[in-house]
Amino acid sequence: MVKNIEFYEAKALELIKNNKGILQSELWKRLGLDSREGSRIVLRLERKGVIKREGVIVNGRRTYKLYYIGSSEAKKVRILVDLSSILDLPCSTCQFLSQCGPHGVYSPYTCKLIEDWVLRHSSISGRGG
Ligand code: SF4
Repeated sequence: MVKNIEFYEAKALELIKNNKGILQSELWKRLGLDSREGSRIVLRLERKGVIKREGVIVNGRRTYKLYYIGSSEAKKVRILVDLSSILDLPCSTCQFLSQCGPHGVYSPYTCKLIEDWVLRHSSISGRGG
């Protein structure tokens, strides 16, 4: 088992980046790893989305060439959240917020402002009755 997997991942990524289309067996050799350890590193990098493997035939044997396809930063998923429905949430400007809670002096369960807000947004989304 590879002891310092992060070290080998970084080293493998550097080699893949600097050698466009490196054979995975060549990568393992240059890292000093056996095929099992090398495959593990390659699969981890592929799962992170920073490399891709392409099947090739070399000397009559099927193997893979490895290509760098981008940094993990570039592959991060962007999640867009629409906050428009909570922009007018009465709690955000409420002077009683610090005293409000299920067992507080003020409660969202009995608050008329929250009730009105919920009803207003329920009718906007078409889910209200
Ligand atoms: S639930 Fe009502 S009282 Fe409580 S913080 Fe929100 S607006 Fe204020």
